[in-house]
Parts: sequence; structure tokens; C-alpha cells
Amino acid sequence: MRDIEPVEAWVRCPECKAAIATPNRLPVEYFRGHLSLCPSCGQPVDWWDVVLRTLLEEEYPFNLFGLVGAKTTAAATTLAPNTLSSLEPQPTVVPEGGRILHITYRPEAGGLLPMELHGTEPRLRNYEGNLNLYPVPISMYNPSFRVGETEVLILVTWVPEESPSEWLPLVEAVDSFVMGRYEEMLIPANVAVESKSSRLLSRFFEEVIGIGHDRVRGFLTDGATFSHQLNVLLPSLAALTQAPRLSTRFVEG
Ligand SMILES: [Zn+2]
Repeated sequence: MRDIEPVEAWVRCPECKAAIATPNRLPVEYFRGHLSLCPSCGQPVDWWDVVLRTLLEEEYPFNLFGLVGAKTTAAATTLAPNTLSSLEPQPTVVPEGGRILHITYRPEAGGLLPMELHGTEPRLRNYEGNLNLYPVPISMYNPSFRVGETEVLILVTWVPEESPSEWLPLVEAVDSFVMGRYEEMLIPANVAVESKSSRLLSRFFEEVIGIGHDRVRGFLTDGATFSHQLNVLLPSLAALTQAPRLSTRFVEG
């Protein structure tokens, strides 16, 4: 496996459909009310609309994972007819301890399709071992295809081992979305928001106001539970710190 370079996730301009690199700080850009201009057509980009369109229309899953900050790296290999390729993901492709979320294979001209081999229990896919690819000739389906050595681009999407506690449930929610298991998104997405809001409020009450850790924990666990945190405490904190509030279209869906 030859590593090539990181791949920037992209979204499409709603006006001209040009690809725009997904900003690393997309949520911050959005909540601060920043409008970006499309580098191709110059029209303002409304990140809310763009993210919704991406979720509905995007064909490459790595771009969906890119919305929540997952990384994608490109690697390449050459398939030869009738030859098994066993590829070890290098640390330059996925850093040590990194968790692979998704892999896309894109064969170039050459007439071979990469088929990933699994054990006899395909659902128990081993994401941590080698990628075993067996070339299937396209001529099986269309005899007019010539068969020869085929370059394959491999896009590996991953998150690093050290990730904030609220990030992984968010990634899990996107994973369920990619797989079309929409109901399974709800709990991890909720956990992601609850975890972040609880940590933010705890720090505020403990470090800014100076209330003891146990009292704050009791208050947020037994008194001001998640719904109260979202509807009362977070807007109050936002107003106090002059941070932007959630727009009504975000709250109401
Ligand atoms: Zn545009």
C-alpha cells in the first residue's frame, strides 16, 4: 500500500455545485453567524443549508464523516490478475490506535475490481488487520473489458485514538446515518450533545462561579437535567458570555 496524502472532505455549493473544502471549524463558523463566499461563484454559503443538502445528497460517505471532523487519507496499490493483495495500513495512512470508520476503493482503468475478503463471519469485520483484496475481472460482467494490472485508490476515513469523549458518539451517529439506520442515530447524537453541554456547564459552575464539584454534579444530575440544561442554562450562559444562541431553526428542526 502506497500512501499518498490526506484528502480534504468537501461540500457542494448550492448555487454552482462546485466542491468547497469543509471548514475544520464548521460549527463555530455557523454559530458565529459567519457567511463564507463560494470560491467559484462568489455567492454566500449558508452552512446550515449546505450541511442538510450534504446529508441528503452526498454520494461519498467520507464527506459525511468529514462534517464532524473525521480524517481521510488516500493510499494506492496495484492489483495484478489472479493475485491476492494483503495490505497493511501504514501509520502514515492511519496513525497508531486510530479507529477506521470507512474505506472506499476506487479502481482506475485496468479491468480489475477489488473485492475485500472477509472471514466466514463478514459482519465481524476486522478493521485492525490487513486489508485482503482479491481482483475480480470486470470482463466477468462485460467481456469487452481488457484485464491487466489495475491501480486502486483507497480512501481510508478514521478518527485518532485520543478523541474528546463527546466526539465518538457523534461519529457513531454519522456512521448509523451512512448505513441508513436512522433510528440508531438518536441515542449517540443525544449522548454527544448531553456530554458536551454537561461538561461545559460543570466547568462554568465550578471554575467561574466557584461551586464545589459534588454540588454541581448533583444539580446537573438530579435538578437541572438535560432538557433544563438545553432550554434554560445554556441560553443563559450564552447570554452572559455573549456567545451566539442556537437559532430557532436549529432548535425546532
Ligand atoms: Zn458556488
